Amino acid sequence: MAEKRIERVFILGMDGAGNFNQQAHTPVLDAFAARGAFTNEAQAESPTISAQCWGSVLHGVKPEKHGLTNESSASERYPDVSPYPSVFKLAREAWPEAKFASFTGWSPINYGIVEEGIGVYKRSLPDQQLVDELCAYVENNPDVKLLFLQLDEPDGSGHRHGYGPESPAYLDAIASCDRLLGQVLQTIEQAGLMASSLIIALTDHGGGGLIPSITAASIRWIRTCSGAASALASSRERPSPRCRWPIPLPSRHGRSG
Ligand SMILES: [Zn+2]
Repeated sequence: MAEKRIERVFILGMDGAGNFNQQAHTPVLDAFAARGAFTNEAQAESPTISAQCWGSVLHGVKPEKHGLTNESSASERYPDVSPYPSVFKLAREAWPEAKFASFTGWSPINYGIVEEGIGVYKRSLPDQQLVDELCAYVENNPDVKLLFLQLDEPDGSGHRHGYGPESPAYLDAIASCDRLLGQVLQTIEQAGLMASSLIIALTDHGGGGLIPSITAASIRWIRTCSGAASALASSRERPSPRCRWPIPLPSRHGRSG
């Protein structure tokens, strides 16, 4: 049977979850991982801080190249002209009219990491409200081509209560996000988009920032119904899902690493 062509990409992120999905109650992720390629061993970028790590996910280069920090992301727009544009900007060059969306619990991603003025629908809200709006958006915009989600609470809980298997509140936050991912996946399924979508679930880092001692391990899953993009996960040398983007994008000189 012919494979169905991938027509859109969903990048579903959970901030600060590390690979503690192994200790948390995550039936949605467990079932999701079983249907695709998966690892608990991928490494986060260094330092394991949100702007540096999400910057590497979205811009495809190491932190010393994209230069993003939590402070800069909250106060400065990412340069319009950069040798390291985000995946959104590259996708915009490839698809001038396509619908893109970025839903983030942590607003600096939408303020300072994803460029302004390139037609990305941006929302920043607490996790549950964010997912409710995301699901409504997908229902109303099933032709969306690229959608990014960042759920914030695992990292927030880790900062407040500590990261790792000895922190019940942190594991509960991961479990709550697992349920929210289930809500998103159900919406994608009900919209009839599952078979033609590449869905990537990932985290940016484990414990980091002010509490750097737990782990820098990152988890990334790649799942595709078509099987067209089965290469897996990241390493320090290939941090970005864009490396395995299933649809051709414009290239940039010097974007390796
Ligand atoms: Zn983070």
